[in-house]
Amino acid sequence: MMLRRHLCKVLCIGLTLLIVYNLLLVVYTKMTLQKLILGGVQKELHFPLSEWNETVIKKLSHLELELQHLQENMKLAMKQQENVDKTLKRMRDEQPVQKAVEAKASETKKHRPREKLFPDSPLFKQWGEDLSEAQQKRAQDLFQKFGYNVYLSNLLPLNRSIPDTRHSRCLQKTYSSQLPSLSVVLIFTNEALSIIQRAITSIINRTPSQLLKEIILVDDFSSNELKANLDELIKLYNQKYPGLLKIVRHTKRQGLAQARNTGRETATAEVVAILDAHIEVNAGWAEPILARIQEDHTVIVSPVFDKINFDTFELEKYGLAVDGFNWELWCRYDSLPKAWIDLNDVTAPVKSPSIMGILAANRLFLGKIGSVDGGMLVYGGENVELSLRVWQCGGRIEVLPCSRIAHIERHHKPYALDLTPAMKRNALRVAEIWMDEYKYMVYLAWNIPLQNSGIDYGDISSRMALRENLKCKTFDWYLKNVYPVLKPIHNIVGYGRIKNSLSENDCLDRGPIKGKTPIMYFCNEYSPQKVYYHLTGELYVGSLIAEANAEDCCLTDPGSGENPTLEPCSKAAQHGLHIYWDFKPGRALINRATKRCLELKKASSYYMPVLRPCTTQVWTIQHTIGNWGSN
Ligand code: UDP
Ligand code: MN
Repeated sequence: MMLRRHLCKVLCIGLTLLIVYNLLLVVYTKMTLQKLILGGVQKELHFPLSEWNETVIKKLSHLELELQHLQENMKLAMKQQENVDKTLKRMRDEQPVQKAVEAKASETKKHRPREKLFPDSPLFKQWGEDLSEAQQKRAQDLFQKFGYNVYLSNLLPLNRSIPDTRHSRCLQKTYSSQLPSLSVVLIFTNEALSIIQRAITSIINRTPSQLLKEIILVDDFSSNELKANLDELIKLYNQKYPGLLKIVRHTKRQGLAQARNTGRETATAEVVAILDAHIEVNAGWAEPILARIQEDHTVIVSPVFDKINFDTFELEKYGLAVDGFNWELWCRYDSLPKAWIDLNDVTAPVKSPSIMGILAANRLFLGKIGSVDGGMLVYGGENVELSLRVWQCGGRIEVLPCSRIAHIERHHKPYALDLTPAMKRNALRVAEIWMDEYKYMVYLAWNIPLQNSGIDYGDISSRMALRENLKCKTFDWYLKNVYPVLKPIHNIVGYGRIKNSLSENDCLDRGPIKGKTPIMYFCNEYSPQKVYYHLTGELYVGSLIAEANAEDCCLTDPGSGENPTLEPCSKAAQHGLHIYWDFKPGRALINRATKRCLELKKASSYYMPVLRPCTTQVWTIQHTIGNWGSN
């Protein structure tokens, strides 16, 4: 007995010591980790501007690693798919899916594919190894029709898990219990049913139910079999969530701008989020949006996007950036503003010059400032129009780092083979309404003549009246105060394609993408043949970049040899290369420093541009500005 009691005591003391030791270990580890993490974050956020580039490169390679981890996580997550909700099970009917998966497996065993039927199809680059021939055909058909992998989408659970891509500090944020209500609008034309269903499911599962007032589907005149399926689906959803789903249908195709407007007009909640239909909202996406708009009803916000691959449906995390655009008004990502970095708060809203398209706003404020310009057709430009209007007319645009939405980046658009005509036309509309004396930059970037462009950008009178009524600021104010990164070029006098008197069909061309030797190439409409001649003598070749921090390419006489080169303009000037040319339409192109001419030399069956003593060759340029070249 005594011995047993002793043993018990010893054991108790030993156990207590062990627990205390473990506790100390836990506290120590936690402190060390905290130091590491916070130190890391501080290091990440406090750096002088001169180290910016280096840091960005480091961040990128870090991101690459993170991405690999994410991909692994994603695979894991896909394995641990959640149980499908019982009611929704009725709609989607898990059994056929299960059967389809099993059938696929047994079919695959039976008929191992002998060959890839579509070796060049982007769909099968990294997916679909063990599909039978019939399955390959089906998958390829669906892919061509929709621009993403509908075959796979139909097999994935509607409520699949995706990695939570928020920064860990977002998880520590708390929000008021009195947030405004939310209407979510999904716009679409000819999207796949399972894609729309997955978007709806993610919204229902990842938005607090007391905040989610309604989900509005805007069908922009889909021509596929969606209608009957959607009606049935909405009925089933509304049985479980009374009144949650609504659908509005356009009776003719009106384009995404008008679809977004219809959504806003139908919505009834205080805040409206207008999204593409091929998205999955991520955990906690709505709270930061609602809180920010509650704080300031004049802010239009954008979530951060992650990418869902069109083929594998895996999610790729995107780093935080602001939304910008170039002079063609195509969207692009720009680096984070220094003022935000200095805040040292990775959860803070980021001031952004523009939005990508998806947005959330106070419904009434968005209406008051003119919603989305319904005069924008098909696709493109409407996001820049809204952005300029919001900034110039008294609102703000912000990207919210803690609100994340995964968006399928389609391989191609099912509704337009070539977006260029719509983009070009819509860009001119934006330029004419909002860009004042800077509108010429849009004409230049698209290579459109300033007068008689021949492009009908529609009636802008009501939008001009809106600008007047709202007493909006100028584009000059916007450039200086909101988007100084977008750099106008002031002294261009000639632009478009440039060709030599010797050869009517060939145009100067910037040549292979990575190369720096210009060539002569059969004249076409593409960017490599755009040139911009400055009154000061520089001749840019290739697309206008016009972005602070990036460089346009200048035609350069290196001083020796017969080959001209293309060099980043300011670097070339610093290194004493010769980038200044004398030129007038119909005259020779003479380097000011070396006095050599750019001329054509016949090389077997083609011409090449060379530098040599001037003969009689002359050049013409497509468009001129003002009266330059007329004397
Ligand atoms: N869309 C529409 N009508 C159109 C073209 C597009 O309603 O005429 C919808 C489309 O289905 C999608 C959204 O608008 O939900 C945005 O289009 P898309 O995803 O093609 O643009 P991206 O995201 O590539 O900029
Ligand atoms: Mn989209």
